[in-house]
Amino acid sequence: MSSDMHKDVGKILFTERKIRRRIQEMGTQMAADYKGKNPMMVAVLKGSFVFMADLVRAMDIPCEIEFLGVSSYEGKATTNTGAVRLTKDLNTDIADRHVIVVEDILDSGLTLQYLMGYLKNRQPASMEICTLLDKPERRKAEVYAKYKGFTVPDAFVVGYGLDYDEGYRNLPYIGVLKPEIYE
Ligand code: 5GP
Repeated sequence: MSSDMHKDVGKILFTERKIRRRIQEMGTQMAADYKGKNPMMVAVLKGSFVFMADLVRAMDIPCEIEFLGVSSYEGKATTNTGAVRLTKDLNTDIADRHVIVVEDILDSGLTLQYLMGYLKNRQPASMEICTLLDKPERRKAEVYAKYKGFTVPDAFVVGYGLDYDEGYRNLPYIGVLKPEIYE
C-alpha cells in the first residue's frame, strides 16, 4: 500500500454522499418492512462494520445488533476459494427472531450460502439478506438478497469497510483498487 491510500484507487464508483443517500433509502424501506418486529441485525465481519453502523442509524425503529465473523479469502487472495471459516459466533439466541443478515458484498455467494444454512439451523422466525454491493457476474451459488444497495462490475473494490489485505477499510468512498497493487 502507498502512503497515500487514495492513489491506489483507480476509479471511485460510489462517493460518500451517494452511499449516504442510498443507505437512507434502504433504511426507510427496512424500517417500514420491520415495524413492530424488533429485527436482529446480524453483520458479517469485518467488511460490513461501516455499512452496519450507518444502516441501523437510518432505520428509525427498535432493532438489535449482532456480529458474525467469517473468513473466506485466505490472506492476499482476491477471489473466494469456497472455503468459509467461522471466526466469531453469535452471542445471542436467534430462535423465533426476525433476522437480517448484513453483508458488504455479494460476490460468488458462497459465504452467504454457507451462513444462511448455518443460521437456519437456529430456527429464526424469518431471515433476509441485506447487502450493500452486489457483483452478479461472478455468482456461483444461488442466493437471494431482498435488500441491495448498488450493483458493481466484476472488479475488486475497496473502501467503506471493504479491504485488500486488511487495508483501505477506512476510505469513506468505494472504489476499484488498481490491479498493479495486487498483481
Ligand atoms: P462471496 O462468498 O460472495 O464470494 O464473497 C463474499 C465476501 O468476499 C465479501 O464479504 C467480501 O469480504 C469478499 N469480497 C468479494 N468481492 C470483493 C471485492 O470486490 N472487494 C473486497 N474488498 N472484498 C470482496
